[in-house]
Amino acid sequence: MIYAANFKTNHTRKSTENYIVELNEKLRAKHPEDKVYIFPPATALNDYEGDFTIGTQNAYAAHNGAYTGEIGLEQLDEFGIKTILIGHSERREYMAETQEKAAAKFSFFQKQDFEIIYCIGEPLEIREKGFEAVMQYLLAQFEGIDIGYDKLIVAYEPIWAIGTGRSATVEEISTTHRALKKAINDKPLLYGGSVKPANIKEITSIAGVDGVLVGSASLDVESFSQMVLS
Ligand code: PEP
Repeated sequence: MIYAANFKTNHTRKSTENYIVELNEKLRAKHPEDKVYIFPPATALNDYEGDFTIGTQNAYAAHNGAYTGEIGLEQLDEFGIKTILIGHSERREYMAETQEKAAAKFSFFQKQDFEIIYCIGEPLEIREKGFEAVMQYLLAQFEGIDIGYDKLIVAYEPIWAIGTGRSATVEEISTTHRALKKAINDKPLLYGGSVKPANIKEITSIAGVDGVLVGSASLDVESFSQMVLS
């Protein structure tokens, strides 16, 4: 299983350091085949050591240059970061990242041999239209994306389940993952959206779920490690 923690705009450099120290303690009991990813805010990126991978929540598709407020490859290289989240619904919505931009970013970081966790997800009004509408919406988010890329991990995150406390049902996850797995040639597929210690076992037991991407419930190291060790 894959367990990925997306801190978003939470935690500082100091609190991330403390988190990592505690996480390392907890991960001694982790199953060797499970993989853990931590995506701290950009100011807390570092070359931490431990049984986990540090990734960046975002970066600009350039080595360096005049891109005020962004970080590029040069800043990631300093810490040996080779993993990136692309296409998160919050970036698509609040930062107006279009499919074209997400695809260009994907292509740039693919060329740099990054591991890419590529996020897709539908809003509530699409979910309410039914399964066909959901799949049509989700598949459009693969436009310009090389689904044959060997370092691709997909994260299905229904937008209406993110940060709302309301996870998708087992049935919704199961049917959506089954269809997505076919579309992405069985690439690793994570579920994200209100995953927490109380529902982790139920979610990771669903066929077609290869792991989870966790926001809110990852901020507390106790809660996140409880999920990893579940
Ligand atoms: C996310 O935004 O990636 C996410 C899954 O958030 P939460 O766990 O808070 O729903």
